[in-house]
Formats: sequence, C-alpha cells, structure tokens
Amino acid sequence: MQLASPNLDVLSSFMTFLPSLIQLLTTYWKLILASFVIWSVIVFLRRGKQSKEYSSLLAPPVGSSPSHQASLNGSDGIPPMYHRSYSQISDRPTSTKLSSQDQEDLNVTISQKQDARVKQPYEAFLVLDVEATCQEGAGFEWPNEIIEWPVCLMRWKDKSNLGKACQLEIVDEFRSFVKPTWRPQLSQFCTELTGITQAQVNSAPNFQKVLKMFARFLARHGLIDPKSGRPIQRFCWCSDGPFDVRDFVVKQCFISKAPMPPWLKGDVLDVRRVVSVWAVASGNPETMAKQLEALGLPAFQGRLHSGIDDTRNIARVMTELARRGVRLEPNTSINTNRRWNWMGKPGEVLEHTLMF
Ligand code: AMP
Ligand code: MG
Ligand code: MG
Repeated sequence: MQLASPNLDVLSSFMTFLPSLIQLLTTYWKLILASFVIWSVIVFLRRGKQSKEYSSLLAPPVGSSPSHQASLNGSDGIPPMYHRSYSQISDRPTSTKLSSQDQEDLNVTISQKQDARVKQPYEAFLVLDVEATCQEGAGFEWPNEIIEWPVCLMRWKDKSNLGKACQLEIVDEFRSFVKPTWRPQLSQFCTELTGITQAQVNSAPNFQKVLKMFARFLARHGLIDPKSGRPIQRFCWCSDGPFDVRDFVVKQCFISKAPMPPWLKGDVLDVRRVVSVWAVASGNPETMAKQLEALGLPAFQGRLHSGIDDTRNIARVMTELARRGVRLEPNTSINTNRRWNWMGKPGEVLEHTLMF
C-alpha cells in the first residue's frame, strides 16, 4: 500500500506552475522591479520622517539652556507626572518602541512647547496668612484675636490683551502686628508657636487702626477707591486653607465691633485646596511643607507660623500654580454674619462658654 505524502503533492503542484511563473516574471519583470523600488522608497521616507519627529521632541531646541536640559531629565524638581494633563502623547505615532523614560521625556517636552498662559480673570491677588492669639488645646472655636496682618500683593507680569497670563509675582508687601484687646496677654504657647512677642503686640496698633493703614495701602495700589473703600480692580484674597478671612477676620471684626470693610468681603481662594486637587498623587497636602513638596518646589523658607514667612511661601505656591497654567479664581464662600457660641452682643465674649 502506498502512503500519500503531502510534501510530494505540494512539490509536484509547484513544478506544474513553475514554467508559468517563469513566463510571468520574464514578461513583467520591469513592472515588478519598478513596484519594488517605489515601495522601498516609500518605506524609507516614512521611517525618516518618524525618527525626525522623535528626535526633535527628545533633543533640546538649538541654543537651549542647561536648565532646559535639566527639566527634560526631570531634575528641575518638577515631577513629570504634573505635566501629563498638558501632553498630547496619544496623537503621536506609537510604532517605534520607546522606553518609559523616553515617554516621560516626550510628555515634558510637548508640554513645554505649549503656551502655559490661560485666561486669568483676576488682576491682583492679596495673599494673607494671619497669626492670632491661641491657647494650647483650645482649638479653633475659641475667640482668637489677630496679632499679625501680613499681605503679599501679587500681580501678573505677562498678561496679554486677551487676559492670558502665567507669570505671577509679588509687587509689594504689607505687614503689621496687631494689639489684641479681649486678652491682651499672649500665652507662652502662642509666642512659641508664632514667634511673636508680648512687646511686639504691646506697641502695635489695634485692629481697626491696622484696617485703616491697610486700606491706604490698597488705595495706593489702585485696588480700591480711597473714599468708599469699594474695589476698583478685580482682586482675590488667597490663603492656606479657608480660615483666614472666613474665620479669623469674621471673629476679629465681631470682637473689635468693626464692620467688615467692603474690600474684605470680596473673593477668597483657598490655595491649599487648589494644590490638593492639582497634586492628587500627593494626597491631601495639609502643611505648607507638603504643598511645596507636592509641587516640586524647594523647602519652606523662613519660620513656620511667622505670618509674613507663611504668606511669602503661599505666594511661592501661587507663582508655581500660575506657571503651570492653573486658572486662579475663588473657591471659598464667606459668611460675614457667622456666629460662634461664645459671641454675645457685638464685641462681647461670653466667658462662661469657654474652657480656657
Ligand atoms: P498658621 O497660619 O498655621 O500659622 O496658624 C494661624 C493661627 O492659628 C496661629 O497664629 C494660631 O492662633 C492658630 N493655631 C495654629 N496652630 C495651632 C495649634 N496647634 N493650636 C492652637 N492654635 C493654633
Ligand atoms: Mg495660616
Ligand atoms: Mg501662619
């Protein structure tokens, strides 16, 4: 019995078609050769174009500074992940294999090629971080009185006619200590926390006087009308957390029996909240140190809980958020009529409600 061999079958079929194949090749060899040459040229040109696109993205532009090169390497302190929201990496060809580091570099470079300027609705920002009297363990429901009023005035350096900007800088500062009136004696805890001494508050003006001095500062900078106190430019209060205007100022106005000036009733931006949304990967950056770290900025500068130093560091965070193209606008509502348990008649603190 003869066994069928599939290999022999294929070979015999091939031998049958071989003469026809040779005839075809000899007849159309010019056409086949020309098609091959055209295909090779197309493949060569496409490869060249792709590698040029990648090299222009990976290499620094001609004449670029070492800092630019450093930022490509992620060594400018800005974790590349923060640039992701700007990247258009999905539009890029993916046929060539890139390492994950190359991919990160691409993200960074593409983001740098874009104009980070976004439309910014505010003309100026008043960064404020008050310090106040406090007792260890008393918490924040207590009648804290403001003892330091430090403000950094920030303005755009590069605002276009369309209102786009990304460079925010401090243009002036205001700082005054404030004399407390309900409990004029600072606790040791308060002095240790804030670095503010009894002598500094003893010789300071009271809150109403500081408000007047500060209103003159605002008027001098064209932010408010000197007579009515109404804002004449769009400015926004900025603080670390919602507490400064929402709680400390409202409490202080009650204790001082001072109506809240129109320029203090304005818009409030909680900078910490913006950072926590922006730097999702870093969790909730509750301290200034964590916020700076989350944004890849150098460590806190100065003394923590010194009002002016806290304010300047918040301003650094603002500058960085602006640089990254974050639209800076209010995110905190203020209730000027908010009442605490210890509040009696205007200016009156109900001592019996307090444990400290
Ligand atoms: P800060 O802006 O974090 O420096 O705090 C503002 C004010 O909050 C301080 O001047 C204190 O009055 C109060 N404060 C901050 N931390 C504490 C604390 N641990 N205990 C009591 N009060 C505090
Ligand atoms: Mg603060
Ligand atoms: Mg502070």
